[in-house]
Order: sequence, then structure tokens, then C-alpha cells
Amino acid sequence: MSKPSAKMTPQRPAFHCVISLLATVALASATLVSTAANCRAQQTAAPAAAKPAQAKPLPGLDLSSMDLSADPCVDMYKFACGKFAANHPIPADLPSLDPAYVLYEINTQELSGILEKAEAGGAARSPDEQKIGDYFKACMNTDAINAAGLKPIQPLLDEIDALNASPAGRAQLATLIGKLQRYGVDAFFGYGEQQDFKDATKQIAFIQQGGLGLPEKDYYLRTGDKDIKVRDQYVAHVAKMLTLAGSAPEQAETDAKNILAMETALAKASLGVDDMREPEKTYHLQPIATLEASLPGFSFTAFEDATHSPHVSEINNSTPQFWPEMDKQLQTADIETIKAYLRYQLLLTFHSNLPKALDEENFDFYGRILEGQPEQRARWKRCSSAVNGALGEALGKVYVEQYFAGDSKAKMLQMVHDIEAAMGRDIDQIDWMSPATKVRAREKLAAVANKIGYPDKWRDYSKLTISPTDALGNELRANAFENDRELNKIGKPVDPLEWGMSPPTVNAYYDDSLNDVNFPAGFLQPPFFDRTQDNAVNYGHIGAIIGHELTHGFDDEGRKFDDKGNLSDWWTPEDLKNFEARTDCLSHEYGSFTAVDDVKVDGKLTLGENTADNGGLLLAFMAYMQRAKDEHTDINAKIDGFTGPQRFYIAYAQSWCENARPESIREQVLTDPHSPDAIRVDGAIPNQPGFADAFSCKKPSPMVPANNCRVW
Ligand SMILES: [Zn+2]
Repeated sequence: MSKPSAKMTPQRPAFHCVISLLATVALASATLVSTAANCRAQQTAAPAAAKPAQAKPLPGLDLSSMDLSADPCVDMYKFACGKFAANHPIPADLPSLDPAYVLYEINTQELSGILEKAEAGGAARSPDEQKIGDYFKACMNTDAINAAGLKPIQPLLDEIDALNASPAGRAQLATLIGKLQRYGVDAFFGYGEQQDFKDATKQIAFIQQGGLGLPEKDYYLRTGDKDIKVRDQYVAHVAKMLTLAGSAPEQAETDAKNILAMETALAKASLGVDDMREPEKTYHLQPIATLEASLPGFSFTAFEDATHSPHVSEINNSTPQFWPEMDKQLQTADIETIKAYLRYQLLLTFHSNLPKALDEENFDFYGRILEGQPEQRARWKRCSSAVNGALGEALGKVYVEQYFAGDSKAKMLQMVHDIEAAMGRDIDQIDWMSPATKVRAREKLAAVANKIGYPDKWRDYSKLTISPTDALGNELRANAFENDRELNKIGKPVDPLEWGMSPPTVNAYYDDSLNDVNFPAGFLQPPFFDRTQDNAVNYGHIGAIIGHELTHGFDDEGRKFDDKGNLSDWWTPEDLKNFEARTDCLSHEYGSFTAVDDVKVDGKLTLGENTADNGGLLLAFMAYMQRAKDEHTDINAKIDGFTGPQRFYIAYAQSWCENARPESIREQVLTDPHSPDAIRVDGAIPNQPGFADAFSCKKPSPMVPANNCRVW
């Protein structure tokens, strides 16, 4: 998973997913299986309420959400989704509601059913059932969690308290930070494993800026009233957390102000979200001595030992500009500030399994203030998501048996092949790319691996101990287990069968280094994939998402990687110039959308996702038309009053019907590479060559402008 915010879990680079990530801060486990950067993982967040009525699947084509008084040629979002918000109020425990969230709610219900059974299971349980059942049971026992207080993390708190300002005391920081990071506390920076950008056969270590409590760099630096207010609220929140954990209120307030100042210094030394998308800016493979030279006061070897990393001889120093400032802070900041910062990081990581007051305060800032969400998710929802995070493939195995129909994989594979074939035709047809580069693009396309539903080989959790009575201990052990699993890959051969998301996840991703597309079973459900619907609807929903992931291999970032997943320049200068003229067109188009009050879409940050949306929709339409031709389907025959092409475009638009709180849109636009849902419709539709015909639109009209953008 991971998110651009409070817990800076190191982002495994090179992941590109289809759905944004929101609300993950208010969440349970740091060990989410999905490590996809900026991907919506399984959010969790709690007044324990009785289980509400079951969420119902949305139909593939939802007539009740359409506003038939709107003109699709003027505003496709309004036509397809105009009544969605009125019919779908946002539940108090979500930041927004869209079809992905509805499906997420349904999946959570299904997971909780599996977990309740595993919890009750008794002696006949399999080892995996024992683990998922007991993790859930301990997580649900809030009485025991409240009674335990801070006791489960007391040894770590004691180690923080023992720090002192002497050189020997500060020298302890490398060990302590390493130990905390092994438990999922991402204090100061991120450290992890990635495939080498320039030699995808190698698994190497990477180190990256991090450690910020606010969602990203610019939250510390913007000067508007809203930003100043958020920083004040952050300071008040940090002070309250520290007070709840035993600090005197006045001391906590001083510490919180100092923490903001220290984090602001780190933020100034950090790259922004735009730069972090560029592989050249985040790839600096170097001997370990070079990194160590930029961290003179920090024993990297001691850190490696504490975090259970092998000793590495080289590393991707993702953000070299960050270390001088971090080193300065570690060596010169008031030791009391560093201690308070580490204490806060610890509380932030484990709040879900700490006493209620801490958990509530965490939600108040990250959920209520930053995302406008009135209520925390019910405990059973959060615990279901926590098990999916900690033991995603043990839970996923049962989920797949119960909820992923056997022949779904074959139908999905047919669509994937159709869309890959469409991309082949598209590459052949485009007029701006030279034959030489087309050959390379074709090679890359032919090498894309397709992963559908669930892994062929399941993860082994046998060495992870899970207790039915120790929620926080389970979280600590699960985090350490996942950390060790990741770091153990360094120096070993790549396993191309590994998944970066658990099977129940509502999302999909493309991985630059593996050159593969991944579609978890949790996403291959209505309305996105609905076996009862015709091809038009399925190609419009999941087909466009398949095309989206595939296009990521050829967006402004993915195009820099070749068929083997290596960062290498396979473009002629002329082709690159043509490509960039086309992506600039998209940057300008999307950059002109206002997302919410004073915040515009960042055309550069969202370029990869917008390129993927536009290309994906185009490819899915080509594939749909070809399939209709091959199967002699009459695309003009109407169902529910709409022709095939009309149903295709309505289904695409309805993937992105949304009812969102303004706070959550604001956070998304400021931190996330995905455009807000409605803009994913009205931004992509005007660039679709098939749309004008489908709805008999006159040119020009807002959805069929005289000039549009086209990359793929
Ligand atoms: Zn994407």
C-alpha cells in the first residue's frame, strides 16, 4: 500500500495503480500486502457499531445514476453519473463514495464473514485459519487492548527515553531507528528492497526521504490560511497524542512545536511529489561508502543490523539531497525533540491497537480534519482490513475459493489478450512514431506478463506467530515478518510470480520493473467485471482498466523502461519529441480543471494516470469493436435503450461516479497522481475518437472539441 502521508512506509518504486489512495492514515496495520505507491489499499479506520445492512453490488450499467436530461455531448459525467451523489450519500465512515468504495465495503463484509468463521473454528483449523482467525479475534478485543494500555510498546518507549545528547547517545539512534523501522515505524526515512531500475534481474536495497507526519512536503511550506490552520491542528494533535501517552501537557506542546520545526526542515530537503515520479531523479545506484559519506554521524551498518537487513555493498540512494539535513537534525536537534518525535511515530504506527483515546485522537486529525470523514470505520471493518494487510495471502486464499468464480480468469484473460492485440494495432497505426521505435514498442508489449486474480504460489506464513489475545504483539510480529521477508530478497534472484497486492484488494497495478499487469480477484467483481452483462459494459469497465494498466508501460514514466523492465532509452530523439508534445497537451488539458475551491489539478503530477486513462479507454473501445466484429454482434442493437458503443462509454464513465467530501478531494489533488473521479470522465472522453459517433455529437461540442489530445 502506502500512502504519501503520515506513515511514510517506503514506497517500492515502479508501481502504478488505477485507484487513488485515501484515508489510509487512519488505518490499522502497517504491513499492508500491497506496497503500491499511491494506491488505494484496504483502508481501515471506529465507533464500534453493530453491522449495518449489507452493502449491495452496483449493477454494471446503473440506469438510476444517470441524468437523462443532461446532454452527453456537453457533459458525459453528468449524463452517466448525474444522480449518483443524490442516490448514494457518503457513509459517515468513508471519505467519499464511488463504485470502488462500494465494492470495498462488500469485500470487507465478505472478509469479515470468513474471519468470523476462522475465529470460531476450533481445533480443526488449518494453520492459516488459526492465524487469520486469531489475528481477527485479538484485534476485535478492545477491552483487552484498553486494559493493556501502553504496556506492549513499553520496551520501545523505554529505549527512546534512554537516549541522551552525548555523542555516544546520539550514536544509538541508528540502531534504534533500525529497530523501529523493522516494526513498521518509518521514522526519518524509508529503507527497503526494489528491483534495480537498470538491471531488473537484480534485487537491491534502496533508501529514501521520509519521516513526515503531514501528507507531503508542501503541507509544511504552503502559506495559505488553510495550510497554516492544518499545521496548527497538526501541532495540537501531536501534543495531545504525547499527553495521552504520559507527557506533561506543557512539555507536550513544546515538543509538538519543535517536531513541526524539525519536520519542516526535513520537508525542505525533500523532493516534491512531481519529482518523485521521475525514475532518473530517484535512481542513484552507488557504493555504500558514498551514502555513508553523506551521513557522517549515522552508522549505516548498525542500522542494517537492527533492521535485519543484509550488509549491502551498493544501494539506490533515491534522494541524495535529503541526507545532509537529516544528519544535521540527528546530530544537532534537541534530543528531547528527537525523543518526542520517535515516541509520536511509535504511537502513530500502532494507534489502532492502543487505548481508545489514542486511536480516536489519531482519527480526529487524519480522518476528520484531513479528509472530512465524520466517523471512524467500525472495528470489525478495520480488523478485517488489518488481517488482509498482515496475512493477505492466507486470507486471500479462502476469499478466492469462495468469491472468485472459476471461469472468471478465462474471461478476463480473453479481454486482456483482446486489449493487448488492440495496443499492437494502435502502435502500428500511429503516425508520430518511427518504424524503429515501433519495433521496440512492439517488443515491450509482447513481453508484458499478465497476472489475474491470485498468485500461482501462495506466501508461507508458517514462521509468523499469531496469538488470540495479543493484538499489538500480532501487529509488531507481522510487521517484522514482512520487513524481514522484503529485506531478505536483497541480493537474491527476482521472483516474477510475486504479487504486490493481496487477492481481495480493490485495485490493479502495472509494475515497470517486472513489466507486468496485475488484477487482484477483489477487483474482478461487479460493477467492474460482471459476468451477467454484455461485452460493451465489461469492456467499458474492466476493459478500460486493463487498458489503463497496459498503457502505464507506455506513459511518461513507463516509456523509460524497456521490455525487460530496465530503465533504458529505446526512443529516437524525434519520437521522444513527438511523444512529449502529446503528453504536454494532456498536462495542459488536465491542469485547467479546478478540483475543489482554490485547488486545481496538477497536470504534471497526474500525467501518467491521465495518459493511462486516455489510452486505456481508447484501447478498450478498439478491443470491444473487434470482439463484436469477430462474434458478429450487432452493436446497434439496443439494451436498456442504448447501443453497444453507448453502453461502453456509459460503463466507463460509471466506473468513476463519485460523491466526495471536499476535504478528501483536496487531499487527493495535493498528494495523489490520480485525477478526481469526475475529471477522469470529462478529461478522457473529449479525446476519444469513437465517442462522437456513439452519441451523434456535433463537432465542436464540449465532449468533442475541435482540438483534442492523443498519445496512444
Ligand atoms: Zn494508474
